[in-house]
Amino acid sequence: MKKFFKISAIVLIILFVIGFLAKKILLDYSSIPEKSNISLTVNDLRELAGKTGPLPVRVNLLRIGLGEFLPGMVVAGRYDKKYSVALVSYQVVYDSVLQGGGKTFIIDAGLDKSQIKMLKGDVSFDDAGYNLLQKGMKNAAAVVFTHEHFDHIGGMALSPFFREIAGKTMLPAEQMASPLILQAGFSQEMLTKCKKLQYEGLYALSPGIVLIKTSGHTPGHQMIYVKLKSGEEYLLAGDIAWNMDNVTELKRRPILVSLFLGENRDRVGNQLRWLHDEIYQAHKEIRLLVYHDQARQDEYVKQGLLGNGFEF
Ligand SMILES: [Zn+2]
Repeated sequence: MKKFFKISAIVLIILFVIGFLAKKILLDYSSIPEKSNISLTVNDLRELAGKTGPLPVRVNLLRIGLGEFLPGMVVAGRYDKKYSVALVSYQVVYDSVLQGGGKTFIIDAGLDKSQIKMLKGDVSFDDAGYNLLQKGMKNAAAVVFTHEHFDHIGGMALSPFFREIAGKTMLPAEQMASPLILQAGFSQEMLTKCKKLQYEGLYALSPGIVLIKTSGHTPGHQMIYVKLKSGEEYLLAGDIAWNMDNVTELKRRPILVSLFLGENRDRVGNQLRWLHDEIYQAHKEIRLLVYHDQARQDEYVKQGLLGNGFEF
């Protein structure tokens, strides 16, 4: 009997140590490269954005949903702070009609109400906001996405106006080829209705808008740089970070979350280091927006740096 207790105690201690180490590695550990392997500079973006014609005049934010990440999911090792899951769309506005009709570009489309359950947890959905998003996409000259996850592209994939919008939806080849876009609601047949973009590195989408290829979080991930006529600049960084804390504190998502997402941690680590060094530290004048960070968005809207809602 004595021996049995002894063995049980040893097994329990071993299990405890394994569990402790697994938690440390999978949930608490965060490492970032000392220096990013990305050589892109802000000047590259500025030059490409300003080359081709009249620049846009405003960026508007529309929110269609709001929830919260599970504790510990956003910043490795941090369980005490609550992090928002804002679901938004951006409207870049020009003061003259663009090729393709309309004066606007739409960036990201959140999700459809039927996809809320895929996010797990408590997420509110704004039906009025969703209707404005649909109207915004119908009126736009083009629609683009930071990446092909359902919470960024689902509002387009399951749009009741899909046929009207598809012809001006511009998807990089990597987004089109990604299995994630099928999970977001597209079929192969629907993809053939959209425009395919083939580019490496940077792509000048329209005067003042530059796409930056940043595969890693997903195969088709891209950041989007916007420069206004006034000289004001934005960098929509998609989901490289989920909250500005990831950038300012240089702390990333836990390894377990990356494994679950199937993201390339090496690439995302270099991108996060680049955002920290090149934008947050060296170019504070650029308005850096990570997609799900409600507090940052609200602050910008309050200061008048982002328009509140879409315009028609
Ligand atoms: Zn997302």
